[in-house]
Amino acid sequence: MASATMTPKDVKLGPTKLLINGEWQDAASGKTFETINPATEEVIARVAEADAVDIDRAVAAARRAFEEGPWSKMTASERGRLMYKLADLIDENRKELAALETLDNGKPLGESLKADLPLTTACYRYFAGWADKIHGKTIPVNGPYFCYTRHEPVGVAGQIIPWNFPLLMQAWKLGPALAAGCTVVLKVAEQTPLTALKVGELAMQAGFPPGVINICPGFGPTAGQALARHMDVDKVAFTGSTEVGHLIMKYAAESNLKRCTLELGGKSPNIVFADTDIDAAVEGAYFGLFFNQGQCCVAGSRLFVEERIHEEFVQKIAEKARTRKVGDPFARETGQGPQVSSVQFDKVMGYIEAGKKQGAKLVVGGTRVGDRGYFIAPTVFDNVKDDMTIAKEEIFGPVMSIIKFKDVDEVVRRANNTIFGLAAAVWTKDITKAHAIANRVRAGTVWVNCYDVFDAAAPFGGFKQSGLGRELGEYGLSAYTEIKTVTVKI
Ligand code: NAP
Ligand code: MG
Repeated sequence: MASATMTPKDVKLGPTKLLINGEWQDAASGKTFETINPATEEVIARVAEADAVDIDRAVAAARRAFEEGPWSKMTASERGRLMYKLADLIDENRKELAALETLDNGKPLGESLKADLPLTTACYRYFAGWADKIHGKTIPVNGPYFCYTRHEPVGVAGQIIPWNFPLLMQAWKLGPALAAGCTVVLKVAEQTPLTALKVGELAMQAGFPPGVINICPGFGPTAGQALARHMDVDKVAFTGSTEVGHLIMKYAAESNLKRCTLELGGKSPNIVFADTDIDAAVEGAYFGLFFNQGQCCVAGSRLFVEERIHEEFVQKIAEKARTRKVGDPFARETGQGPQVSSVQFDKVMGYIEAGKKQGAKLVVGGTRVGDRGYFIAPTVFDNVKDDMTIAKEEIFGPVMSIIKFKDVDEVVRRANNTIFGLAAAVWTKDITKAHAIANRVRAGTVWVNCYDVFDAAAPFGGFKQSGLGRELGEYGLSAYTEIKTVTVKI
């Protein structure tokens, strides 16, 4: 069904209610909200709007499923089997899910199909494999004792996700939680609720017991806050802005000291040395910034280019940006769809204005595309200075900032001069420079001669105000377990 001729009308909508205790329910208040197609500004559907009362019901269902339900009595391998089954069902429905993701979020259909869907199923399968491999240790303590540890599920997990990769962020959250044996209440972003609800339907079909997976669309200050402040939620996991990350930690501290993992914003330095393969670096820098309409937490939004190749580099990357095809995300030739919402559109346009006003050199773009939908022309600023707003704040849009540098020590110092520390990259043929950057830049992920390489097995998360804890890999899993030490006199 996903073809170049597809239109929004061809997309099959899934559930639009709250999934609580295995049943599709209206919000207690009866309230609904609109979800919008960002390419046309038309309403796709009205979705039930969860509030504190609904979160209460969902948490109660998750608690029951955790304490009493079949979930806690199920073997670990049986939990894994259900997760593999869910991944298979997502695969079987991948065209429908990709189209729904594109409709709700605006990302090009080809990318939904080739990136979001396979990364999503790979994540569920990776964590399904862990379900029966979560081991404790035996510890050689002093005295006549046998001491061992158990890695037990942390309990009810409250999870809050953003709108830039709705299916994938759901997988990053549900995957480790379910593998560890937790039950979950997931609050999806109000801009993009549809695919998460469809996955909820597939999870019911796969046979997850009622209450294990609860999904509540709704707004941050109401549903999100209620979840993060809930006294019967054992852990909160959040992905989104650094600003809201501060609030989530405060809510956790002011309620029950629930465990807290945060994956927040970034202003990632992408460092290009003169000795690199310039065409490969241009390709990587272009992809690393413009992918997903620039709506990536790891976007290489501070592009440091060594002075000696600066002119050639700017000319090459500007040419690519100028010819990038912006438009209908369902059209095969489209490289860039709309920004997710009018709020994000205005925010990004505001940053473009700030760049112009503060004296950065606008090389390409800087304007809206068309008069319907939230489209922004791929934009490149050159001669950006470290203290300009566009070099300091997360833009989350198709806006590239090119900054000149001269040597290793200088670029390391400037790369680290930020409140963020999510990702970084370096392009060079010199192994010494590559390791200087890898070792000295304070960021949770460093890519060498590549960008945006993700794998469910590789831990991901931020230094500094880019977050707390890690997702993915075994560290991501450990964020959903409590360690219990048992000591037995022998
Ligand atoms: P956001 O407000 O941080 O939203 C992320 C999630 O948190 C959404 O589900 C949101 O609900 C929820 N939320 C908002 N306020 C909350 C609160 N007080 N308590 C609990 N949950 C709350 O991000 P945004 O407003 O969509 O985007 C703003 C900026 O954040 C972007 O421009 C970008 O810089 C950054 N961002 C980063 C990421 C990332 O991957 N790290 C993802 C998205 C955005 P609602 O749906 O109601 O907003
Ligand atoms: Mg939408």
